[in-house]
Amino acid sequence: MTVNKHDKRDIALDRTEELKQRIESYLEAAKSIPTGFKMEEEYQARKKELLQFFGATEENWQDWHWQMRNRISDVGMLRKLWSLTEEEAEQIESVSEKFRWAVSPYYLSLMEPGNPGCPVRMQGIPSIRELQDNWGKLDPMAEEYTSPAPRITRRYADRLIINVTNQCAMFCRHCQRRRSIGEVDKPAPVEEIKAAIDYIRQNPEVRDVLITGGDPLTLSDEWLDWILSELDKIEHVEIKRIGSRTPVTMPQRITPELCAMLESHHPLYLNTHFNHPREVTQEALRATRMLAKAGISLGNQAVLLKGINNDPHVMKKLNHELLKIHVRPYYIFHAKPVKGTTHFVTTVQEGLEIMENLRGYTSGLAIPWYIINAPGGAGKTPLLPQYLLTMGKDYVMIRTWEGKVFRCANGNI
Ligand SMILES: *Cc1c(COP(=O)(O)O)cnc(C)c1O
Repeated sequence: MTVNKHDKRDIALDRTEELKQRIESYLEAAKSIPTGFKMEEEYQARKKELLQFFGATEENWQDWHWQMRNRISDVGMLRKLWSLTEEEAEQIESVSEKFRWAVSPYYLSLMEPGNPGCPVRMQGIPSIRELQDNWGKLDPMAEEYTSPAPRITRRYADRLIINVTNQCAMFCRHCQRRRSIGEVDKPAPVEEIKAAIDYIRQNPEVRDVLITGGDPLTLSDEWLDWILSELDKIEHVEIKRIGSRTPVTMPQRITPELCAMLESHHPLYLNTHFNHPREVTQEALRATRMLAKAGISLGNQAVLLKGINNDPHVMKKLNHELLKIHVRPYYIFHAKPVKGTTHFVTTVQEGLEIMENLRGYTSGLAIPWYIINAPGGAGKTPLLPQYLLTMGKDYVMIRTWEGKVFRCANGNI
């Protein structure tokens, strides 16, 4: 049977109608998902209040040292900024005796003061649930058993982590390394970093070095420049990566000087950690664009967090917003059972449902890998909805994103 040109066009038009229906529910839901860009006016108003409170200027705000020095970490101070109930204040106080907290003025300006369910506030302000955790462990990934040299975590043959500081611009309530955060900011001693670099030098199979922390971008440009230069001198180190949340929590850290320095250490990658579309702001864009212009490939490692982003529409919107600011979604981590953070842990089904709602429904570029970390540091393990139904000798049965089932040849039969 031949199909004439006119009928082919009709078939395509019918199919387009069907496709549009597939994303209707997302388009409807996305209208009411707040994004950093949509909230710009509110953020500006809160920034103005904060500047007044600190008696500070726009220039101060843009200075990351000012942002670090003026981190809010004391409930008395927070009470002057927000009207907290007595109970809320007491709870924050009692959590802070066990788990440190601090939030840069910038990141505080993204929080809704009166809303304990605000997805930004939930990431930065202590919750009493942190003290009600009888399940989590301080080091479920056994990082302390996978450290062959000072400051090194090694779980793979060809790549490793070097942890250069315990400082951060904001201490995430879901932090997987809370045990290292301690009470005071502690950059690693020079001798330890040197020992870590020696270890990398002595292990020629290591071709990829991840600089992490804490947040390495809380270190000075000079100190980072030195660490990167030492790594550049090691021939077998082919690429370097920086793990930093500053584009989210303190984008003022990304300065022209920093970018010029980083640009001299290519090939260099940076992975950051946005969890909610509200975090994707004008200021974040300014930072990520500058990094992108310096030739640095940007990736995002989100964590799946109950009450924050465990929603297929929110996660899809996040990934769309990230692509707008040059950041490629890389991983969604299933939350780890870290002591004091397990109220954020979701089911694996929720993670799979999010993945199911990405593939086919949006750009492949907007689809990260969903990763569960095997216990004891045994490795990142990808989880996928089941698209392969059966695997025969000559044929496989597959299921498409829309649930259509097909038989495909297995090889050249
Ligand atoms: C996550 C991690 C890496 C990097 O893993 P990729 O999948 O290559 O991004 C390397 N070493 C350690 C110890 C890690 O935890």
